[in-house]
Amino acid sequence: MTASRLKIAIPDERGSARMRRVRRIHTGPELQVRRTLHKLGYRYRLHVRGLPGTPDLVFKSRKRVIFVHGCFWHRHPNCPKASMPRNNRPFWEDKFRANIQRDQRKETELRNAGWEVLIVWECETRDAQSMFNKLTEFLGPPRFKPERS
Ligand SMILES: [Zn+2]
Repeated sequence: MTASRLKIAIPDERGSARMRRVRRIHTGPELQVRRTLHKLGYRYRLHVRGLPGTPDLVFKSRKRVIFVHGCFWHRHPNCPKASMPRNNRPFWEDKFRANIQRDQRKETELRNAGWEVLIVWECETRDAQSMFNKLTEFLGPPRFKPERS
């Protein structure tokens, strides 16, 4: 599913290799977030295509969505991971600008439709405690339900 979301035109081999690396990095942080949420007992759906931007995690009853963004690809402000490739610089600048604009547009569409939106950056997922704080603050307390009644 991640692959289809990141479908882009690649100018040459170097760009292609870089994209593959970005994709691999991208899957780790999302799994990290999902593991934390799962442990806390939140229920959610993944990659809901019916919503703007196909949010990574959707909490329908809470009317909240979470995107887990790769710092490089989505341009985390002031983050060392959001470096600028030296080659094909105009291509990457255009691409990044388009990505940022698309992210903003989708977020606005979601908010206009009544959804609260949280962005979790790749580099934030390394600190388990701050991730826990950020997620629970955004989602509110998990609703623990007994496994069997
Ligand atoms: Zn970052």
